Amino acid sequence: MRSVVTGGAGFLGSHLTDKLFALGHEVVVIDNLITGSTENLAHLAGRPGFRFQQNDVSEHISVDGPVDFVFHFASPASPDDFKRFPIQVLKVGALGTHNCLGLAKAKSAKFMLASTSEVYGDPLVSPQPETYWGNVNPIGPRGVYDEAKRYAESMTMAYHHFHGLDTRIVRFFNTYGPRMRLNDGRVVPNFIRQALLGQEITIYGDGLQTRSFGYYSDILDGVIKLAASDFHEPVNIGTLEERTILAFAQEIVKATGSKSQIVHAAAAVDDPRQRRPDLTRANSILGWSPSTSLADGLAQTIQYFVPKVAAISKAQS
Ligand code: UDP
Repeated sequence: MRSVVTGGAGFLGSHLTDKLFALGHEVVVIDNLITGSTENLAHLAGRPGFRFQQNDVSEHISVDGPVDFVFHFASPASPDDFKRFPIQVLKVGALGTHNCLGLAKAKSAKFMLASTSEVYGDPLVSPQPETYWGNVNPIGPRGVYDEAKRYAESMTMAYHHFHGLDTRIVRFFNTYGPRMRLNDGRVVPNFIRQALLGQEITIYGDGLQTRSFGYYSDILDGVIKLAASDFHEPVNIGTLEERTILAFAQEIVKATGSKSQIVHAAAAVDDPRQRRPDLTRANSILGWSPSTSLADGLAQTIQYFVPKVAAISKAQS
């Protein structure tokens, strides 16, 4: 098997690359490194069967040799990135998806789109089943990501129906673990960094909005099962461990043994109030459900961040 992973220098993409490599795949990673880092792939450099191409998939892409599977995982994914890179986010979801589908078609490869619970927007139903059509503000600050991913799903299904391409769509919910960027602005690295530095933990808004946090290794087990299935409609992959952001902050304080105070800052615009996947489809079609507790996943993630935070603390002193 020879797989292409776009976004393979990012948090989830690099873990997927490792997993495919461990399963015996050759892997070609394509990444433009606007948010990814080759540090996440350093351990694979020079290994036979691994190849890195620094390309922007929003431009025409070419890959030499046969390809069996294209995993399109490239996109900035933090709400802060949506402000920093709005056009790139739109382009990688729209043009990038089109190019990756074209690559899969040219190589007669299978294809998987990394989509997101953001397609549900600020959902009016909870938990969210795949049949829910969503509640998205197209012109809000998150619209660049939400609409790009909705378009990407449409394009993927069009290639499936019109060209007969063998496609999959995974909708990820909040996923965390080692290799997240310390400064990507998302709640997991932010709270862990603040807690380890003894700084105030900043909750945006009242903190009663909820998220369900899935550990990357569980999430990728679901991805591999979906890749091996014949299922073409979207599948939610996440966890049922729903927490308010306030409860999550308290959990981080406890897990780090921090003395940080929890404070409230201005609410984020269009911040979804509740997010929890309905996992019935993943359970019944893939026989998959997550197994890592939030406490265990957080312990491993905190361990990863400790030396990184110590390094910035040292640089600042
Ligand atoms: N959040 C927060 N403080 C932070 C970062 C995020 O309270 O320093 C909140 C944010 O408003 C949202 C939730 O945590 O309600 C998750 O935010 P994140 O940026 O991780 O991703 P999202 O799930 O919104 O895409």
